[in-house]
Amino acid sequence: MSGKAVIATTSLAGCFGCHMSLLDIDERILDLIELVEFDKSPITDIKEFSRECDVGLIEGGCCNHENVNVLRDFRKHCKALVVVGECALMGGLPALRNNIPVKECLEEAYLTGPTVADCNPEKIIPNDEEIPMILDRVYPCHEVVDIDYFIPGCPPRADLIWEVLTALLTGKEIQLPYEVFKYD
Ligand code: SF4
Repeated sequence: MSGKAVIATTSLAGCFGCHMSLLDIDERILDLIELVEFDKSPITDIKEFSRECDVGLIEGGCCNHENVNVLRDFRKHCKALVVVGECALMGGLPALRNNIPVKECLEEAYLTGPTVADCNPEKIIPNDEEIPMILDRVYPCHEVVDIDYFIPGCPPRADLIWEVLTALLTGKEIQLPYEVFKYD
């Protein structure tokens, strides 16, 4: 790759733990900014793509239509798409709802759950058109678009993200000892 590579990141149905793990590379962030410029990302707060990107990092799977649109947009704008963490790879914790009908999930969340029963006397399930439509289940990213690389973990260790990212950016051989994999 000649010049600085351009990276974009996003969090779909995730908890931002994978982004926090990326920032856990600590002082290597100084090395990273020698290698890359960030485009669309919560790290830069850039909301829209301004150019084609070399690498897109995706945290989280798809639980609503907005997630699907964002993921397709990343596929369109990024040469290599990398899913980071179990939510993006397999659906993760949000996918625990996959065996429960959406109607039951919404009723539990807004009408009958022990923490909401007294807070919603009008028994309203939010349905504003601005709210992204929830999907029938949570989809891992590879079921929505083609994915080039998968980084497992919850979250993946900073060392693992660093190894994969620098290997991608520099073409160096990747070293992945067992110790860099983590599932808390
Ligand atoms: Fe959070 Fe773990 Fe999902 Fe990453 S994989 S978004 S850390 S729950």
